[in-house]
Amino acid sequence: MDAVFGGALAVVIAGALALTVYYGFMGGDTKAGEEADPEFHFECQKCGHIVDRPREEFGPGVARVLDCPECGAKRSCLMMTECPNCHELYVSDRTKYQDRLIKGEKIEDICPHCGTNRVEFLDKKYGVKR
Ligand SMILES: [Zn+2]
Ligand SMILES: [Zn+2]
Repeated sequence: MDAVFGGALAVVIAGALALTVYYGFMGGDTKAGEEADPEFHFECQKCGHIVDRPREEFGPGVARVLDCPECGAKRSCLMMTECPNCHELYVSDRTKYQDRLIKGEKIEDICPHCGTNRVEFLDKKYGVKR
């Protein structure tokens, strides 16, 4: 009985952790089954061109950055994040400055349309305690 309960608890904790890591680092991604957008959206940081690409193209290990088909800039199209509150798309600072994020710098993920802090919003939504 105890073992069963412990196992279930471990699964819940592992799930919460995985979720935190997942939406913390993979901006723009949604969990399987929840309002899944069949496409990823990218915005060129040079000219502002928007590129939509099928989600299946981006399996594990595939970089989510594209060369711009419009202005030709290399690796300039960054994946956009959907705001969980107003559902507008934007390129998060956490996507723009991933190298700094990986070094441990604290970078907020704020929706430029409505000002929602995406990580805090999702923490509340999924009841994650920090
Ligand atoms: Zn461009
Ligand atoms: Zn928003």
